[in-house]
Amino acid sequence: VVDLGMPTRTVLTTCAYCGVGCSFKAELRGDELVRMVPYKDGGANEGHSCVKGRFAFGYATHPDRVLNPMIRESIQDQWREVDWGTAISYVAEKMREIQARYGAGAIGGITSSRCTDEEVYVVQKMVRAAFGNNNVDTCARVCHSPTGYGLKQTFGTSAGTQDFKSVAKADVIVVIGANPTDAHPVFASRMKRRLREGAKLIVIDPRRIDLVRSPHVEAQHHLKLAPGTNVAVVNAFAHVVVTENLTDQSFVDERCEEFDEWAEFIARPENSPEATEEITGVPAADLRAAARLYATGGNAAIYYGLGVTEHSQGSTMVMGMANLAMATGNIGRDGVGINPLRGQNNVQGSCDMGSFPHELPGYRHISDDTVRTTFEDLWERHLLAEPGLRIPNMFDAALDGTFRGLFVQGEDIAQSDPNTQHVTAALAAMDLVVVQDLFLNETAKFAHVFLPGTSFLEKDGTFINAERRINRVRPVMPPKSGKHEWEIVCEIAQAMGYPMSYTHPREIMAEIAALTPTFAGVSFEKLDKLGSVQWPCNDKAPEGTPIMHVDGFVRGKGRFVPTPFVPTRERSTRKYPLILTTGRILSQYNVGAQTRRTENVAWHPEDILEIHPHDADVRGIRNGDEVTLTSRVGHTTLHAHISDRMPIGVVYTTFHHPVTGANVVTTENSDWATNCPEYKVTAVQVGLTTPT
Ligand code: SF4
Repeated sequence: VVDLGMPTRTVLTTCAYCGVGCSFKAELRGDELVRMVPYKDGGANEGHSCVKGRFAFGYATHPDRVLNPMIRESIQDQWREVDWGTAISYVAEKMREIQARYGAGAIGGITSSRCTDEEVYVVQKMVRAAFGNNNVDTCARVCHSPTGYGLKQTFGTSAGTQDFKSVAKADVIVVIGANPTDAHPVFASRMKRRLREGAKLIVIDPRRIDLVRSPHVEAQHHLKLAPGTNVAVVNAFAHVVVTENLTDQSFVDERCEEFDEWAEFIARPENSPEATEEITGVPAADLRAAARLYATGGNAAIYYGLGVTEHSQGSTMVMGMANLAMATGNIGRDGVGINPLRGQNNVQGSCDMGSFPHELPGYRHISDDTVRTTFEDLWERHLLAEPGLRIPNMFDAALDGTFRGLFVQGEDIAQSDPNTQHVTAALAAMDLVVVQDLFLNETAKFAHVFLPGTSFLEKDGTFINAERRINRVRPVMPPKSGKHEWEIVCEIAQAMGYPMSYTHPREIMAEIAALTPTFAGVSFEKLDKLGSVQWPCNDKAPEGTPIMHVDGFVRGKGRFVPTPFVPTRERSTRKYPLILTTGRILSQYNVGAQTRRTENVAWHPEDILEIHPHDADVRGIRNGDEVTLTSRVGHTTLHAHISDRMPIGVVYTTFHHPVTGANVVTTENSDWATNCPEYKVTAVQVGLTTPT
């Protein structure tokens, strides 16, 4: 008998890796997942996929999965398996004890951008209604929180403006601080298709990413700016637009406000390309030419990534890009806009679901009495009007002894957050750390309770991708641990005295829709019927909104905000003469907890340090040598890869492996508005680990 391997059933679901949100048919033979087939009618991917979504699903059934809840009194003790009832009672009791001793605000929770909207929503509800405070934050704190802040200030809502399809109408594509080929491969293919058709490309990045020169694609401009100087570059673009009369004045007059004050600021000599050359190292003539191309080349669209947000001026840069788009009228139609390329599958959703200490679902401030009352009425709980602690504030408070209990949903903060030593010291200082995850990750080394999570193959709910598209995630198999993550959270809340229960995630989405105007028209039934919808989805837009700000901005008028360039505190010195910046590669995903447990790891078994031939030569470093990377906060060792992709004076690495732990060297510097860490600028020294 020949086993042809034909599937016996298929389930339509969504990739759990990047923010493109590709749809897949999971094909099963019996209970075994045999392959993932990209879905041709998927709104985000139209039948395409990358090597992660298509092949790297083996982690979901990896033997490292922990399937039973575990408890230990101290982090020096061995774990002991317990039943669910014991684990949930233990968490509730310990959280209550901490509150009784140290106050209601001594505990909090962190939500995960890898979990579903419904799972995230119940965590923030548990914190607000059962814990009785607003100490809830999301891992988006360390990636796209400046996007949320910057776009809200200027446009009125914290989300990208376009759908992915829109790129097909762009005449000029600007890629800033993003590497779509590696980090968002399926969208990168769409972008390249448009570039091959003749659209012009401007890349703003210290590193020569693949897009700069790849088959049939060549950037018209690659502005190799010094790390940390994005704002100076975007201001120089705007300076050219204003001083050379390239503004779309009718758009500005009809649609925007506070233009004159901004124009006066941006026209100042310190924002000229000549002054900017001094700061950024980018020749003034290149800045002028690129700015003119953006302003006059037809539809111009900006796509950006963490190279924009993970800076001390991340929020300023987001507002700077929004200013530029408004000044040139590049908002509100196909082919234009400001488009954050979200890293994780559900960054957009975790932010939309109110996992910020100052915002309820739908980005409404907790201090807004009317909004808060709506939630209080439905949740039947008094809510505090004061914002709670952000993640870095939780760590600081833990070291002060005022924050003692943390629930961490699917996020490895001990590996992903900056200045690892500070994070682990804070975790070690807490009385109770609860980790809900698939694997015993780095954070679990500091945990007292481990609650097994579910992989995307077991989840039932929704993810929201970078274009605000709400996709269904359908279960391929039942939860291996016997419980859904949303059930666990509800049971903890109940054990703490707050009644919270649902029979199915569709009921959670119904509650989200009832409380959140931008989701008012969303339901599982609609998603099953239409495939997906892009929010806002409500009476005004019952089938969703592919492009935002078409007839007016969400805040009414688009607002220009002056964006002065302020240099980062992180400078190269005699002791630390190089600047380290970080990024991703195609085969791996974030801290690697998933992809390292798949065959993808063979393509990238370790993080390596890219270093320019000149910088390597003066240090006697040869290709493959083991080098020590040292900053003022820590050091790690990696193997060197000599490459002229980086300019002289800048080194680069990825952060997929805990052994090398790039975040051991990143610092406490962060965005002034949101505390998003400044991962992209760290002064370092590099030397041979064993000098010859
Ligand atoms: Fe998954 Fe992103 Fe790859 Fe699509 S592009 S298959 S969403 S990792």
